[in-house]
Amino acid sequence: MTAMQERYAAYADLALDVGLSLQAGQRLWLSTPVSAAPLARAIVAAAYRRGARYVEMNWTDDGVTLARFEHAPRDSFAEYPVWHSEAMLAGAHGGDAFLSVRGTDPQLLKDQDPELVTTVQRTGATHRRQFLTYITSHKVNWCVLSVPIPAWAQQVFPGVSEDAAMAQLWEAIGGACRLNDPDPVAAWNTHLAELARRGAALTDAAYGALHFVGPGTDLTVGLVPGHRWIGGSSTTDSGITFTPNVPTEEVFSLPHKDRVDGTVTASKPLNYGGTLIEGLKVRFVAGRAVEVTADAGQSVMQGLIDTDEGSARLGEVALVPASSPISTSGVLFYDTLFDENAASHIAIGKAYSECLQGGHDRSAEELAAAGVNDSLTHVDFMIGGAQMDVAGVRTDGSTEPVMEQGEWVQ
Ligand code: ZN
Ligand code: ZN
Repeated sequence: MTAMQERYAAYADLALDVGLSLQAGQRLWLSTPVSAAPLARAIVAAAYRRGARYVEMNWTDDGVTLARFEHAPRDSFAEYPVWHSEAMLAGAHGGDAFLSVRGTDPQLLKDQDPELVTTVQRTGATHRRQFLTYITSHKVNWCVLSVPIPAWAQQVFPGVSEDAAMAQLWEAIGGACRLNDPDPVAAWNTHLAELARRGAALTDAAYGALHFVGPGTDLTVGLVPGHRWIGGSSTTDSGITFTPNVPTEEVFSLPHKDRVDGTVTASKPLNYGGTLIEGLKVRFVAGRAVEVTADAGQSVMQGLIDTDEGSARLGEVALVPASSPISTSGVLFYDTLFDENAASHIAIGKAYSECLQGGHDRSAEELAAAGVNDSLTHVDFMIGGAQMDVAGVRTDGSTEPVMEQGEWVQ
């Protein structure tokens, strides 16, 4: 095997064994950029070797996406391949596994009409709504990871040749995903155990709220009573333990949809569907984002927040130390999958019901009554950094430090 083939094989093993935990007899839905076809082939082969019944291949391509924005009729952007979302829903219902390998130009849509961008996002979210419920309640094993493509690599490593940028991005991903470790699966098992321990300690603390203080941020995030902190792996109802995001450095839980107050300033740019949102500031009152400003991408961010009632409220709060390997690498990936693991973050939109004890068994009405947010969207943005303090607020109003200057206190 060439060095590249070895890298693809190692990444395929990581995706299927640590990420998805693909089981013999499962069908696999695989989504990969066309330009990463060699990696896709390695994953497909590895999946069949593990006993996959069938791999359903879905190719993605930035050029195809862009051609639509440039040339399709302006009134056609609410078109959607309904057959595809219905087939995925049927697959989820039947216990299939879902692996999404992403690779996209972070600035692909920067010159396109924000209203059309919003329409496409909203249309997709509407049609995938039921499927997203399978994902957020972890009824299926799923995993998202990223693969370098030239336009992305050159955004992350500007000023060098395409080949050099691609090599550097693969190296950075290798570091972030522990692929450069002699035994990546063993390194992951140690890491996942540490995240689980951290999550359990925060669950036991049962804070009523977290208070974030840092540059441009003074934010209190109320937590839903009975919340759990989750980190690393999740387990499906059928007992498959999988790691939905590779890499992952976070422990995350459940903000109360009506109890978020104060101002927060994003600490890194956010790439949302081909638009870079920079210098984002949001003010919350009683859970609702009432004021949103950004130096770039403001109208796309506002459009996202205006999607529905829940998209103006929080669905996730996550803690990541400033010393996480992705953070210390100093690389800004312009990809939330990586950047959210370099900093504590919050997400607007749909909450993960598994963050509530017994959440899986509760109806939508019961979850809402408990303070669990619902929305068509779920979009993370980074707020943490080496100057962020986080205090846990107990239900009696007393506080204790959880993070100081971006690091765990204990
Ligand atoms: Zn997160
Ligand atoms: Zn999230």
